[in-house]
Amino acid sequence: MIVSNFQGVARKLAQKLQSVGISNEAVLNAIATTPRHEFMPESLAHQAYDNTALPIGKGQTISQPYMVAKMTELVLETTPQSVLEIGTGSGYQTSILAQLVTKVYSVERISSLQYQAQRRLKRLDLHNVQLRHGDGWQGWPSKAPFDAILVTAAAERIPEKLLEQLNPAGGRLIIPVGGQSQELLVVERQGEDYQQKSEGTVKFVPLIQGDLA
Ligand code: SAH
Repeated sequence: MIVSNFQGVARKLAQKLQSVGISNEAVLNAIATTPRHEFMPESLAHQAYDNTALPIGKGQTISQPYMVAKMTELVLETTPQSVLEIGTGSGYQTSILAQLVTKVYSVERISSLQYQAQRRLKRLDLHNVQLRHGDGWQGWPSKAPFDAILVTAAAERIPEKLLEQLNPAGGRLIIPVGGQSQELLVVERQGEDYQQKSEGTVKFVPLIQGDLA
């Protein structure tokens, strides 16, 4: 992997995503210009622009680029200002969001991953992001309400606290729900009314319940 030449391979990845159904130009452009190889161990950098999830340590993965693009498209179906991500992981999805919305908050339960993500985002000069070491099931109450909440790990059920932290005027929760078999759900809030639709079957690591790591 010739790191200085990443824009060629990143552009190819964006073209690949376009060919499999991603159409939002801003999302494709962010994928084409973001150095995904910087969000993983160096030993895997040669695979950074493949359309696959890859291990980032601590049993976690950097999401598949198609999934990152698809979820970001869902976020951008409205015009959100303030977005909360649950599951910072490598920070790659965070960095894509940060290029497309005004303010991004992101919560991660594994402190070493959060620390590395923080450094990467700083290095890329993405300063409209605030990270927090915490439990995603709790959301981030002091920063609520959010126009969109994006969960990048699969929850057994929809976390009540995340619904409460959605903007009552059309805030949307995008979340994989399930165990072995998971569905990507989009829940839209209008006042106390919550409308839910499914975006199909997906595969994510679990949204852990319990102590922080
Ligand atoms: N968006 C990330 C995806 C990482 S995988 C990326 O593209 O790299 C999902 C992440 O969710 C993991 O880092 C995992 O540690 C985190 N996670 C799991 N359960 C969590 C919880 N309850 N609260 C916060 N983060 C959690």
